Amino acid sequence: MSLVMPLTYFSTGFIIAFMFPRLPIILVTRGRGFNTAFPEHPEPVPLSPKLTQRVLHMRMIYWMGFVVATIPLLFGLASIKWGNAAFGFGLWISSGWYILSRLQTFAGGQDPPWTMGIAQRLQVVMDESNGESKCCDNPQPEWGIMAVSCITCSKVLDTMPRPDLGRKRQDGFFVGATRLLLSDGYPIISNDVGDTTKPDDSEE
Ligand SMILES: [Zn+2]
Repeated sequence: MSLVMPLTYFSTGFIIAFMFPRLPIILVTRGRGFNTAFPEHPEPVPLSPKLTQRVLHMRMIYWMGFVVATIPLLFGLASIKWGNAAFGFGLWISSGWYILSRLQTFAGGQDPPWTMGIAQRLQVVMDESNGESKCCDNPQPEWGIMAVSCITCSKVLDTMPRPDLGRKRQDGFFVGATRLLLSDGYPIISNDVGDTTKPDDSEE
């Protein structure tokens, strides 16, 4: 018996279960109406309660993927038992892997691209811009690709690289979606995502 068909079924199951839990992030947030409050990708985003809220929304949708992944997992188990075993195994391996990699967060693994901590750091920068420790007379903090900095005095206010924010991507739907599948929403250029300690902030 040939191995080609089982392998095809396995790969199909694997790819479906790979895409499935990632669809919410790719589809839910890219709508036009969802992004009117923000400049177009990849422009820097001014800090605002709306931006903080967006980070929290992305975080919620990210964890929603976790719940969504249980569907191909269960379907895969059912398929192994009663349907096409190779297809079911593909589904099962892929979604099981996804769930395990997400669970790793709780065992000291990499933080998700969107966390409560990120939202809080944005809030801290906003509070500082309105308080006594503001960087200049007219602080206008915005989130660029590599850091949060002030437009007025160009001081770096937080060295936090920017994750995907659900905006429609400049490189179009398919390239954008592929990039998202590969990066999983993490900042494209990142050495220390989730590392809250900052080595130094002496550069200006
Ligand atoms: Zn400033």
